[in-house]
Amino acid sequence: MATRVSPGTASGLRIGVLTGGGDAQGMNAALRAVVRTCLTAGAQPYAIAEGYQGMIDGGDAIRPFAWEDASGILNRGGTVIGTFRSRQFMTHEGMLAAAANLVTRGIDRLVVIGGDGSLTGLNEFARQWGALLDELAGGGTITPEQRDAHPRLIFAGLAGSIDNDLVGTDMTIGVDSALHRIQDAIDAIASTAASHQRCFVVEVMGRDCGYLALATAVSGGCDYVLLPELPPEPGWEQAMCDQLRRSRLAGRKDSIVILAEGATTRDGQPISAESVRATIEASLGEEARVTILGHVQRGGTPSAYDRWASTLLGYEAAAYVLSASGEEPGPVFGFHGERVVRLPLVQAVSDTRSVPDLVRSGERDRILDLRGNEFRDLVRIFQELSDPARTQAAPTDKRVAVMHVGALSPGMNTAAKTAVWLGISRGLTMVGVRDGFIGLAGGDMSELTWKDVDGWNQEGGAVLGTRRHVPEVEELYAISRALESGQISGLLVIGGWNAYEAVQVLDAERSRYPGLQIPIVCVPAGIDNNLPGTATSVGADAALNLVVDCIDKVKMSASASQRCFVIETMGKDCGYLALMGGLAGGAEQVYLNETSITLDGLREDVEWVKRSFDDHGRSFFLAVRNENAHPDYTTDVLANLFDAEGQGRYDTRTLIIGHIQQGGPPTPADRLLATRLTDAAMARLAEQISQGAAEVSCVGSVGNEIRLTGIREAMEGTDRSHQRPIDQWWLDLKPVLDCVNREMA
Ligand code: ATP
Ligand code: MG
Repeated sequence: MATRVSPGTASGLRIGVLTGGGDAQGMNAALRAVVRTCLTAGAQPYAIAEGYQGMIDGGDAIRPFAWEDASGILNRGGTVIGTFRSRQFMTHEGMLAAAANLVTRGIDRLVVIGGDGSLTGLNEFARQWGALLDELAGGGTITPEQRDAHPRLIFAGLAGSIDNDLVGTDMTIGVDSALHRIQDAIDAIASTAASHQRCFVVEVMGRDCGYLALATAVSGGCDYVLLPELPPEPGWEQAMCDQLRRSRLAGRKDSIVILAEGATTRDGQPISAESVRATIEASLGEEARVTILGHVQRGGTPSAYDRWASTLLGYEAAAYVLSASGEEPGPVFGFHGERVVRLPLVQAVSDTRSVPDLVRSGERDRILDLRGNEFRDLVRIFQELSDPARTQAAPTDKRVAVMHVGALSPGMNTAAKTAVWLGISRGLTMVGVRDGFIGLAGGDMSELTWKDVDGWNQEGGAVLGTRRHVPEVEELYAISRALESGQISGLLVIGGWNAYEAVQVLDAERSRYPGLQIPIVCVPAGIDNNLPGTATSVGADAALNLVVDCIDKVKMSASASQRCFVIETMGKDCGYLALMGGLAGGAEQVYLNETSITLDGLREDVEWVKRSFDDHGRSFFLAVRNENAHPDYTTDVLANLFDAEGQGRYDTRTLIIGHIQQGGPPTPADRLLATRLTDAAMARLAEQISQGAAEVSCVGSVGNEIRLTGIREAMEGTDRSHQRPIDQWWLDLKPVLDCVNREMA
């Protein structure tokens, strides 16, 4: 649950905020959230330009920030206040000057957004604070009263680094956007490579942390990966070439090797992209090309995730420094899945810095522990997916059917492909059902080979087709017969709410139909993010990115005039896309079914809009409305209301985003989630089949742990009339949106 920040409770406090180390997309969102949370609480934020150097330089480099100073930066990459690697800050004189500049301005609270170096510097500075102030008071730079008024430096760190290297958090600021950049490049390379039957070696960033390389290898369906954490065994060149050769024999047209920039051999020799290329050319006798992605990975607009997650981190960090006493060790904030976690900074940094030594001493297990469960899962899954020796594993008589049910969602294909590849590698025969339960009842299914699904990873849509149809009891006989005659031993259903409903119907009636007495697992795929047993479902991230992209364009279209916009998202009765889109896109208000719309609330909103246009120089107002927010207060009604009440202050427009939210390719996050969920679902099916068990369950990700839940138990946690979970974690973010997107006026 997000910490609550109460207006006006921190008046008199002064907080500095800076960005350090390499820039990362999302730093601006974090900065903006820190600044605005402080302002909402009544404190005065100061932005410090050029990292620690600005703190030493003082003057205009330490500047009070107002609400508007943090406007228009949410969608910008890099950091608008600059970053600098300051050598001077690592000296006593540097820190002394920095402390003097803070104390003379009354600043004794800091939020630093940066890498391990910046966080170490922060901790060191706080440790020496008392001694520095004594020295300054002794020398007359500050008065003893000034010193006594600021006995401690209270601080919080945020990990900003596209490498995802900080131990203890699943994601650091900028990683998701970097994955977007890399994924775009890999998808583009895959199509040209396939046309020419070519091999590509792609180098991505990551000195000590191979997360970007590993995640890309999995989500891009690549063939081989070289990570700094896991140096390959001697003779790896031969193994790599054998692997590429075998996957060609199995039918792949392109080969892609992903190399992290910090990859080395076991004896610590760097592995260069050029050496990998030369090895492949010599061994395979075909052209290989190198692409080094470099700084494009840091560039461009931040992804939806990097906007909302960094906003939440900035909010939490500010809330912390505004209320902390400074007696406990300073924290760094991060994520476990969707949950914000507060980590001891010193421990997190020392664990992070221990990784290279562990690599040298070959402590693979310890490294995987430090990297966390997602990294460990992805290493294991990639090994299995990429080993073409498993493309024709000896088939057993066990056949597993895979199908889609419900509305289309980006990532359905990724899940289906993963199911087929993992199923085959585990000795199962995989069968694809076309068009959901309608197809199944008609027996429309056929075997899927390894090659059939190659390339499905990155495709939007659903090659197998999907139908919303939930079978009636009368149809179960045909469905049972089809499963029996297809000799199906297990069923994987990838889809949305209707998939869960359908599976419940099967579960309830299974005692009467022998064909239904098989294990069944649901994989949550739906853009609404309303599914039971999971915090996030496959496809929601792609839809959210689309909503945010629309908001960006709407803002640009309105930049030359006074505008009020009401944007409508999909989601039925679930407000996930509206709230998260509004949070990530900078909307001043969101209207959800969960919180409904009242006339009193609308009156307040209208008054607020008028005041902020009149008194605060506002020229744009954006509200995001979930499609089922209210049956009568429709998007048009809201727009008409704002228009009439605005009395000429602005023009009002609406945008109903519609079905493009379901289309488009799955994002890296969607693909990774689809892969991990499907892996667990297939493991459950294989286990149940081998034990002769036949449970019906669903798989989900909660706090980044992949877990299976019985379907009945999972459905008990839902509000069926609204088709959504009873507890929705993201509803806690509404106060964050109010705090950072909507200035008190
Ligand atoms: P990246 O992800 O790019 O590595 P980083 O924050 O780790 O980011 P660094 O250059 O290592 O980048 O550190 C940023 C700045 O933090 C340094 O230039 C220096 O000013 C400060 N800093 C780092 N380590 C210390 C330290 N031990 N003591 C004081 N200041 C430090
Ligand atoms: Mg660093």
